[in-house]
Amino acid sequence: HAPATFRAMLETTAFHGDKTFVVYEDERLTYAEFFRAAATLAHELRDSGIAKGDRVAIAMRNYPEWIVAFAATLAIGAIAVPLNAWWTAAELEFALGDSGARLAITDGERAERLAGVPLIVTRRGSFEGGRDWADVLADEKTTLPPVELSPDDPATIFYTSGTTGRPKGALGSHRNLGQAPMTVAYAMMRGVAMAGKDPAESAGQRRNTLLTVPLFHATGCFAVLMTTMFTGAGLVLMYKWDPGRALELIERERATVLSGVPTNAWQLLSHPALDKHDISSLTAISYGGAPAPPKLLERVTALLPDRTPSNGYGMTETTALAIYNSGREYAAHPDSIGRPLAVMDVKICDPSGRELPRGEVGELCMRGPVVIMGYWNRPDATAEAIVDGWLHTGDLARIDEEGFVYIVDRAKDMVIRGGENVYCAEVEAALFEHPAIDDAAVIGIPDDELGEQVGAVVRITSPVTAGDLRAFLRTRLAEFKIPVRFWFHEEELPRNPGGKILKTVLRRQVLGD
Ligand code: ATP
Ligand code: MG
Repeated sequence: HAPATFRAMLETTAFHGDKTFVVYEDERLTYAEFFRAAATLAHELRDSGIAKGDRVAIAMRNYPEWIVAFAATLAIGAIAVPLNAWWTAAELEFALGDSGARLAITDGERAERLAGVPLIVTRRGSFEGGRDWADVLADEKTTLPPVELSPDDPATIFYTSGTTGRPKGALGSHRNLGQAPMTVAYAMMRGVAMAGKDPAESAGQRRNTLLTVPLFHATGCFAVLMTTMFTGAGLVLMYKWDPGRALELIERERATVLSGVPTNAWQLLSHPALDKHDISSLTAISYGGAPAPPKLLERVTALLPDRTPSNGYGMTETTALAIYNSGREYAAHPDSIGRPLAVMDVKICDPSGRELPRGEVGELCMRGPVVIMGYWNRPDATAEAIVDGWLHTGDLARIDEEGFVYIVDRAKDMVIRGGENVYCAEVEAALFEHPAIDDAAVIGIPDDELGEQVGAVVRITSPVTAGDLRAFLRTRLAEFKIPVRFWFHEEELPRNPGGKILKTVLRRQVLGD
């Protein structure tokens, strides 16, 4: 059964006692130590006036303290507001104001940029203000302060990645949080069924996940941290993403799961030091949160046979994972995001909200216990996105006869060329097949006659011309989908920390609009 509130689930972590929960560099936190730190901070927060429903911001790297701060906030019924650690002062100010946070728990690196709220500061470096984390945790407690909580109480505000516009605060309930590990459990069980054996079990290892993405996004917190925490598994944190360091940590900590966005897996498996490390402990390579090119699956399968690769689809609004592809099914449908997990209902709709017949392309809509309560402070956006319990994802997709879902593109990412829809994702996938292409992003170029034309920004690893690329694409795509213009970039394409290309930024760079 899924315990009804985060608090109830948190109390069960004490059973895991001396088992290691979190590893960060040379620091190790056991479950018992974690629980005591969370209980102590929970008392401190309550004593400093934080009440049920108040918002507490968390702004730091993936430090163990992030997890303690998150747990303590939720345990007293306050709402945790994880802030994007890469945000500038202006972006942080927006989120602090939008959420109405009464307090921020931060590291020294970000403290300077958080104006106007009381601070609790850890790893302060040269920053001098605020209360000190160590002082706050000095008077150790072993039980949580009392509070009445129900599963429908709000628990979290996670900002969406801001890929298509200004981030929106997704308000999640305690029920959503409790259900998130359930979707992962369904995914893992399906993975086991697909593989015909439980890979972790046969290797006799405890589940230990190397987390390569930020905790302030849905995947890191809901899919990975919650599942780890409530099963008594292990979690290895990184100061920042670095594929060479990731190889060292997998070897040192005998990590069994690599979890992140497709870019992480791609960079790890392309790293020159790959051969020098023993990463045989890995049993599962799981990624999601952004489109995964079939080329990635090929590479995983070639370099790490017998491991279970998986591609998970989800969004902040579904408390992470919702649709999942792994093992044999993934091998047979490498361009699909898989089938919906047992608790999710899906349908495809036209722009008026009418359900379309199977096989047709339209907006993917989902319903289930992980769909958020709504957007914080945005009744308009909530009413638009959640209609009769159905979440409208903004992603264009189709579902085949066997129930496999194919993401075609983001609705906002489509180029409409003379009335003909060109899905950027399709053209990007074709470009990725070219051996010289390392990265690609397709954008619409304003055009007087056609409305829009197709353009592509590419990063290449060996010399190739626009003419070569066009000739290559012509064997794969209809003429109207072929980019009329190419930009060749030497530097990495602008991505957000979730690994998604920021097309608004890119468009500004190349078109200047
Ligand atoms: P914003 O909503 O602020 O524009 P965002 O949609 O990128 O940003 P997230 O909630 O982090 O914010 O990401 C969810 C989106 O990521 C989905 O709507 C989908 O477009 C994309 N996505 C997630 N998983 C996958 C996947 N496995 N394959 C393809 N796309 C995916
Ligand atoms: Mg979105």
